[in-house]
Amino acid sequence: MKAFLLREYNHKMSLEEREDPVPGPTEIILRVRACGVCGTDLKIISGKIPPSIVTLPHTPGHEIAGEVVAIGSAVTDVKIGQRGIVYFYIACKDCEMCRTGKENVCFSIKRLGFELPGGFSELVRLPAYNFCPFDEEKPLTEMAVLPDAVATSYHALKTMADVKAGQDVMIMGIGGLGIHAIQIAKLMGARVFAVARREEPLQLATEQGADFVINSSEESSSKKVMELTKGRGVDVVIENVGSAQSMSWSLPCLKRRGRLVIVGYDPLNPYPLNPMEMHYNEWILCGSRVSTKQELLEVIDLVERGRIKPIVYKLLPWEKANEAIDELKSRRGIGRTVLTF
Ligand SMILES: [Zn+2]
Ligand SMILES: [Zn+2]
Repeated sequence: MKAFLLREYNHKMSLEEREDPVPGPTEIILRVRACGVCGTDLKIISGKIPPSIVTLPHTPGHEIAGEVVAIGSAVTDVKIGQRGIVYFYIACKDCEMCRTGKENVCFSIKRLGFELPGGFSELVRLPAYNFCPFDEEKPLTEMAVLPDAVATSYHALKTMADVKAGQDVMIMGIGGLGIHAIQIAKLMGARVFAVARREEPLQLATEQGADFVINSSEESSSKKVMELTKGRGVDVVIENVGSAQSMSWSLPCLKRRGRLVIVGYDPLNPYPLNPMEMHYNEWILCGSRVSTKQELLEVIDLVERGRIKPIVYKLLPWEKANEAIDELKSRRGIGRTVLTF
């Protein structure tokens, strides 16, 4: 098979011939048909993810859709030829987190495209458990973005923020995740404030149902949010950027007892908290990490029922993976680029 390999940080990946993977008894082999390109792939390629997680040479790619071409001897519920997407978090199934339904924070998690080879490759090996089949009619190029861009926003809003109908929700950062967060927050009955630094993503945010859009390069987001909420602030902020600058804009938008959910992160620039502000406002801060497999299955259902529409900005032949990474670096795009095979 052919696969992209990152041999040196901050260099282009090289397309190389590799040995075909062979499934273990409980594993399957997927022929990749589509793979989303995520901001985290750029972090990996730039060497911002510690070497304890990503070791070189490495094949990135964690939004994988494809068809089953081989199954292990003990696999009974997956068939050759089946199409589906990949829940890319491979959990141990037997630690405290796994046993209490929180496999996304398993103590010994391994992920395709991070600790393990990912989907910028013709074939990928994974446990049969991690394969999520779906309605044959849905295009693989759209379904590919569900495991991260859609399910991550679903977990953040539903489980970590526990959004209730009528609440005010601010989505900070409108990219692959933010655009789906708007749809999901609307589906939950929230009033949605979308914040970004450029006009194009904000236009898309309006099309996807955002009630208010704020261009943070032109006006102060906290001032505008306070104006629109009569001085109270929003119940929930979904922080998709997670840079020190963006945190300094989003935190002051929170209502007292409001909850800020940190989805995006900038590994090299931590944000200093003011404990007195936290105390006076009783603000709740939490992280949010991808989703459980159950949540991904719920997202597949919602997409099949037409309640969430996966938004793909651009399709590129997979041989052009380096081009997709360059585009992310230059911040020209809006939302997900998907590589097609
Ligand atoms: Zn991602
Ligand atoms: Zn575990």
